[in-house]
Amino acid sequence: MYRQMSRAQREAVFVEKAAQMYGALEEWYDQHPEASFGEIEAETRRLRRELMGEGLAVLINGRDTGYQPEAPLCAVCDQVMEFKEHRRWGISGLEGETVLMRAYYVCPECEGETLFPPGSETVIASRSLERRSGAGGHATRADGQIV
Ligand SMILES: [Zn+2]
Repeated sequence: MYRQMSRAQREAVFVEKAAQMYGALEEWYDQHPEASFGEIEAETRRLRRELMGEGLAVLINGRDTGYQPEAPLCAVCDQVMEFKEHRRWGISGLEGETVLMRAYYVCPECEGETLFPPGSETVIASRSLERRSGAGGHATRADGQIV
């Protein structure tokens, strides 16, 4: 779970995680000195998925969680919506498992009218408008589910 950071901070977080991944690979190879190239590759792939899953969270959430200082208007009644909290959003992507934090807004007038404003980077990530109606609904056109 990452919140807004500068580009330099995001890069520092990613580089640190990449260094940790390499360290984990060295340790694994120490413990499996007889491993075949294929086995080393398999372990590398597993660690890479973890790294890239987290790296994508840094890239996306480090820029924007969808939080807006001026709350958005309800699509149904045009009232100002209320910011409730940041919610976890798990996405199982090509590069790994990513957990994003998304700002969650609720309309005080319309029961169940909710909004997860898409940041531009999130639109790129999900190709979705994360608007939902009703509690327990699923994000439309999203690849992942709100968790
Ligand atoms: Zn409303």
